[in-house]
Amino acid sequence: MNILFSDAFLNSLNKFASLKKNIKKKVDMIIQHPISMGEPLKGNLRGYYSSPVRKNFIIIFLYCEGCRKRGDDKIVLCNDCKECTNDTIKFIDIGPHDQAYGKK
Ligand SMILES: [Zn+2]
Repeated sequence: MNILFSDAFLNSLNKFASLKKNIKKKVDMIIQHPISMGEPLKGNLRGYYSSPVRKNFIIIFLYCEGCRKRGDDKIVLCNDCKECTNDTIKFIDIGPHDQAYGKK
């Protein structure tokens, strides 16, 4: 498994320090089961997956095997998708529901 964290994700992790433990637990679960833990997003965020840490607080990530299966790598902002192995997970952002969705 090839795990990548964006700067935005790491910044948010520090910002929501009180949730750090919960976030890390969720990250571990996503790494083990990226498909079943993630809910595919639609519209502008097509190709991304979200997973709730708690109510209205989500993790957004990309899973490159998912990108390819769905052909989403053509429209998704998975910049270096072609250079990533199938088992690459990119953690994009975390935050309150509306905020995290609004970013992309
Ligand atoms: Zn990808």
